[in-house]
Amino acid sequence: MPSSPIPSFEEVVRFHGHVCPGLAIGYQISLAAMNALGVSRPDDEELVAIAETDACGVDAIQVVTGCTAGKGNLIIKDYGKHVFTFINRANGEAVRVQGIQPDIPERAALGELRPKIFGCTATEEEQRAYHTLTHTVVKKILEFRPEEVTTVEKVSVELPGEAKIFSSIPCGCCGEMVADAKTREYDGKKICIPCYLKKTA
Ligand SMILES: [Zn+2]
Ligand SMILES: [Zn+2]
Repeated sequence: MPSSPIPSFEEVVRFHGHVCPGLAIGYQISLAAMNALGVSRPDDEELVAIAETDACGVDAIQVVTGCTAGKGNLIIKDYGKHVFTFINRANGEAVRVQGIQPDIPERAALGELRPKIFGCTATEEEQRAYHTLTHTVVKKILEFRPEEVTTVEKVSVELPGEAKIFSSIPCGCCGEMVADAKTREYDGKKICIPCYLKKTA
């Protein structure tokens, strides 16, 4: 498969907007998955990812593995679990990858500060400490080999279909263009989901 170089963690941070441990684990999960499947970063839709969370790590998966929401090869099933399944379309091989929290002493202090930071009661000094600790934890997570901070399990998964090109039609109710495959039947007309929800509320 055609491939591009693996994006750096800095590129992932630029996409995501901030540095956080979840992003670092997501980065390592992506690398572990590609190692296990023996693929480099694909340019198109050779890999499919199923994310069991919609949290920070998903952004690392999108940048590093090229599985993105817009291309349809990233499926988010938000079970609130930092677990990702990757499928290689070329041969159907699949792995389920879970991040494991490595033993990093600074994590405890970070955990103690978190409620204050998110409850907006942290002093400036605490905010600075939180920032420094975050960067330390992230740096340490990235110093591990991907396999040391993940568990990789071979699984068999039904391969989702290739991204479909849907034809668009005007909604029989609001008139806005909508993908035909996403319409609902109502009163003999094909209408969009928001209209359908209003009609059937
Ligand atoms: Zn984040
Ligand atoms: Zn409509």
